[in-house]
Amino acid sequence: MEDRFGHHINYLRVSITDRCNERCQYCMPVETQEWLPREEVLSYEEILRTIRVGAGMGISKLRITGGEPLTRRNVLWFFEQLNRIERINDVGISTNGTLLGQMTPEGITTAQALKNAGVRTVNVSLDTLDRKTYAETTGRDIFPRAIEGIDAAREAGFEKIKINTVLMRHRNEHELWDLIEFARKRDLLLRFIELMPVSTTHVLTEENFLPAGEAKKLIEFRLGELAPRPDFRTNGPSSYYELPETGQLIGFIGAMTNLHFCETCNKLRLTSEGKLRPCLGSHLEFDMREVLRNLEMDDNDVAKFFLEVVERKPEQHEFRESYKPGRKMIAIGG
Ligand code: SAM
Ligand code: SF4
Repeated sequence: MEDRFGHHINYLRVSITDRCNERCQYCMPVETQEWLPREEVLSYEEILRTIRVGAGMGISKLRITGGEPLTRRNVLWFFEQLNRIERINDVGISTNGTLLGQMTPEGITTAQALKNAGVRTVNVSLDTLDRKTYAETTGRDIFPRAIEGIDAAREAGFEKIKINTVLMRHRNEHELWDLIEFARKRDLLLRFIELMPVSTTHVLTEENFLPAGEAKKLIEFRLGELAPRPDFRTNGPSSYYELPETGQLIGFIGAMTNLHFCETCNKLRLTSEGKLRPCLGSHLEFDMREVLRNLEMDDNDVAKFFLEVVERKPEQHEFRESYKPGRKMIAIGG
């Protein structure tokens, strides 16, 4: 599938739940969170059907996200089904990591079960190495479980484990070096992400926002000049740089400050309640659930729907201009 601006779409990011076991300040900080009623969330069968049709239209890469995807019941069964879909050759998961170390009834870790189900890459969110800062940021004092989860993922032997760190001034700007060292020692690919206006709270303020460029300078000040590595690409919009001496690669995801951010976008997003979104940073969304639940519509209609949404994909996101945080990241599947 290709849109009006030449974006070649082969990647679907699927949020399978709006629920989470953490309460990150920039995502869903409210303790008395209102979850979607169960019937509004797509069933696994509905999600799998959407993906099957998408695979027939050129989708070959999937990332399963949430909320926290590992909080959804029978999630390992769901991952096993994904691996059976023809033409899907790259399945990844985005997780806060805290459940990766949990044992399954088979006596293996959840990370190992995901690996066995065919998951290739794991992205784990980790903003800090300090237990107190972790508890403040995520609303949960479970830092050791996040580290245990990362270790479980390493033991499971995934092709790639990435660490996603949201940049926050006064919160983790003094830890960037420690995070780099943490990633180097464990052979993890670290990416620094700029805060985006995707939460219901007003966390994206001048005071909290730490631009990727500034983080890069802070790192260079201590560790030497970073050499751009435009040849190194993952599936996403990250720009990678190489550290002198160690050769370690570090990614920066600068949705707010990188003006070329959208040029290589290859994504669509499916929200947990079945909205197909052509762009994370735009209000546009289209109700796939209606099509899926309409008994008079078949897979051809689902396919047509994909094409219509791709046709409406904007040239670039609207974060910088007019984005009003109307929706939470958790429902969209960041
Ligand atoms: N629960 C999983 C996790 O935390 O990785 C998956 C869902 S989470 C919404 C996906 C990613 O979005 C995480 O890396 C998180 O840090 C990021 N995220 C959430 N809110 C954000 C915001 N306001 N700005 C930038 N990134 C954000
Ligand atoms: Fe949960 Fe991930 Fe959002 Fe944090 S960023 S509240 S872990 S969904």
